[in-house]
Amino acid sequence: MTILDIRVLGDPVLRKPTKPVTEFTDELRRLIADMFETMYAAEGIGLAAPQVGISERVAVVDVEGRKYTLINPRIVSRDGASEKAEEGCLSIPDIYGDVERPAEVTIHALDENGNEYEASASELLGRCFQHEIDHLDGKLFIDYLSPLKRRAALAKWEKEKDDYPGNIRKVRTEVKGEHHHETEM
Ligand SMILES: [Zn+2]
Repeated sequence: MTILDIRVLGDPVLRKPTKPVTEFTDELRRLIADMFETMYAAEGIGLAAPQVGISERVAVVDVEGRKYTLINPRIVSRDGASEKAEEGCLSIPDIYGDVERPAEVTIHALDENGNEYEASASELLGRCFQHEIDHLDGKLFIDYLSPLKRRAALAKWEKEKDDYPGNIRKVRTEVKGEHHHETEM
């Protein structure tokens, strides 16, 4: 398995719409394995294909041992009152913000072998599903912040972004805990 480079804010791939997966090949399964490896190395809880430069509807999630491969996922229902909680993103390291989202969602997706499934989730897992599906539509959590908070987040990012030449974040496994934050996805 290979640890992939993570694309950070500023890379156009993060804003591009993604293509649905139509073939369940060994190449796809290798990409998924590499994405899990990359997510664990970066100490995140979710990772979407555009974050590794691939415009396909694929994401991986592991929230407290609840592991999901999301292929062509869509939200089929949203329930409960909206809840506000902190989010971060592996593509915008060290920037966090409170995002309001439906408390519970049910998703429909395919796994790495093309089998359909549905999953309902609330709290951090439900939030992570929504954050990853947003990535597949070119949407980032900072888009939800108020203009004032977004401006503050982007000002902070202006100072950070020089650490990522070419909008590339090299995941260095030897520095565990460097960016560790349980809400980066
Ligand atoms: Zn993210």
